[in-house]
Amino acid sequence: MSPQADLLPAQPSNARTPRRVLIVGGVAGGASCAARLRRLDEAVEIVMFERGPYVSFANCGLPYYVGNVIADERSLLVASPERFRARFNVEVQTETEVTGIDRSARTLSVRDGRTGASRAERYDALVLAPGAAPIRPPLPGVDLPGVFAVRTIPDSRRIRAWIAERQATTAVVVGGGFIGLEMVENLVHRKLAVTVLEKLPQLMPPLDPEMAAPVMEHLAAQGVQLRLGDGLARIEGREGGSLVVIAESGTHLPADLVILAIGVRPETTLAQTAGLSIGPRGGIVVDAQMRTSDLQIWAVGDAVEVRDVLTGQDTVLPLAGPANRQGRVAAESIAGRATQFRGVQATAVVGVLGLTVASTGASEKGLRRAGVTSFEKVYLHPGHHAGYYPGAHRIHLKLLFSVPDGRILGAQAVGRGGVEKRIDVIATAIQLGGTVHDLAEAELCYAPQYGAAKDPVNLAGMLAENVLTGDMPVADWLELDRTDALVLDVREADEFARWHMPHATNLPLSQLRDRYVELPKDRDLWTCCIVGQRAYYATRFLAQHGYRARNLSGGYLTYKALKAAGLVP
Ligand code: FAD
Repeated sequence: MSPQADLLPAQPSNARTPRRVLIVGGVAGGASCAARLRRLDEAVEIVMFERGPYVSFANCGLPYYVGNVIADERSLLVASPERFRARFNVEVQTETEVTGIDRSARTLSVRDGRTGASRAERYDALVLAPGAAPIRPPLPGVDLPGVFAVRTIPDSRRIRAWIAERQATTAVVVGGGFIGLEMVENLVHRKLAVTVLEKLPQLMPPLDPEMAAPVMEHLAAQGVQLRLGDGLARIEGREGGSLVVIAESGTHLPADLVILAIGVRPETTLAQTAGLSIGPRGGIVVDAQMRTSDLQIWAVGDAVEVRDVLTGQDTVLPLAGPANRQGRVAAESIAGRATQFRGVQATAVVGVLGLTVASTGASEKGLRRAGVTSFEKVYLHPGHHAGYYPGAHRIHLKLLFSVPDGRILGAQAVGRGGVEKRIDVIATAIQLGGTVHDLAEAELCYAPQYGAAKDPVNLAGMLAENVLTGDMPVADWLELDRTDALVLDVREADEFARWHMPHATNLPLSQLRDRYVELPKDRDLWTCCIVGQRAYYATRFLAQHGYRARNLSGGYLTYKALKAAGLVP
């Protein structure tokens, strides 16, 4: 017997009364739970309550509706209440808010948003999928007309109407994370001049700062004003309805509209009031079957805490993929199956004005925060497809792996093409417990317009293998100002003359075999070039001649990104 089957209440004495499963929240997690449960159990009664006017809508499409890339609002509606009824025999009650849970009576208090009338609804099993709420900091002016969060279809409709009615030309986006950047792209698409105000000194907080640097550069080149390292202090209204965003630094940023995209917090009011356990990250505590501290109540999606499979720590991860999979796991659990949710590794992607930014697993800063020290990293900048085929763009890729076993810990990539494909491959390898050797060996599809015979994923694995075997010891750019190593620039003399690191010594790779005896044997040699490839060749040569050589991984392109991020002098 599955561990779950005996937890559900026995069939009521009146056998004609089916078991009742109530679901709070009718979008990603709730809707997928309802549909899966019906596929598993025809007999159960399923009722889904949704506070808003729509169920199963595409929140992820909202920024593109604002940008008019998705012009027809109806495209955002993935499934209607009627379809849930007709296809899945799921009763959907929209504009119906669940206001309380009586756990001992196993009832919900439910308020009809149209009439205001409240009633009680009995449940045998309850699924909480209430999502997350946009954070609205308690600062003056955040409730002024023209200040918006983006969470629902009506939110986006209001933003569209505001832009049209006010003929808006300027916007401030507060927050430079995923949703903030998607809003930037779409407001630029609507021809607005956009300023991003971000409290951290980098965009895309899940990334390591040097990997976010190309995003910063790209946005600036596209005319987006960036104010990083500066928080929101207040917003003031001006005559005529325009706004001024005042930053903590005192800077005034005039705007016709303001988007608040500073993150979300799990919707836990119901769970908290009902006495369910809430975790340290502010989400509902669940087990691997998505059961809360009450065995008749499951919870899924943005509202819950889940285990980060890489750091082993509890986390909240407001993404659609996990919410959908958790909805499915909860349904299976309710149906008596022992399916478990594996945890999350934060695989995510965002596109912004032609640049793709994707990541999976742990970041370097995340590992350090979690106290992990036995890891290494490599940087590489290969073309997204074979260089001889027109239109290849670099992918900036960082791979983190555990030492000495080579387990893959995380990867981040930025570029114009093929970025998400590489991250998805690495994400899959992580999920299967893969190592860098698996990446080196991965057999991936190749034709010139798609990749390379040695795909960037293979290259990342090979570089990491070289680090683990000692074939290519790496030096960390961050330690450059603390080392007495000789920085050996192996580019050609003309390249060196154009620009070089202060204190670097030039010995071109093409002359190394003839001149290597000039180099000191009693000093560490840190080799560098543009991307790290020639430096690797030099490292191999020098190591085989008894020198203590290390490669400054990723070469000057990585140095440039570290410098732009303020991490190296
Ligand atoms: P939701 O989908 O938010 O659904 C929760 C629902 O519960 C809401 O409709 C709410 O009205 C309802 N509800 C709450 N409380 C009650 C109550 N008491 N009674 C009745 N109903 C209630 N994720 C990605 O992976 N990729 C993306 O590109 C992406 N883009 C996004 C863009 C935007 C603008 C937004 C807002 C989110 C985006 N996300 C993206 C995140 C993704 O949409 C969420 O992670 C996902 O929808 C979470 O699913 P959920 O079921 O937990 O919550």
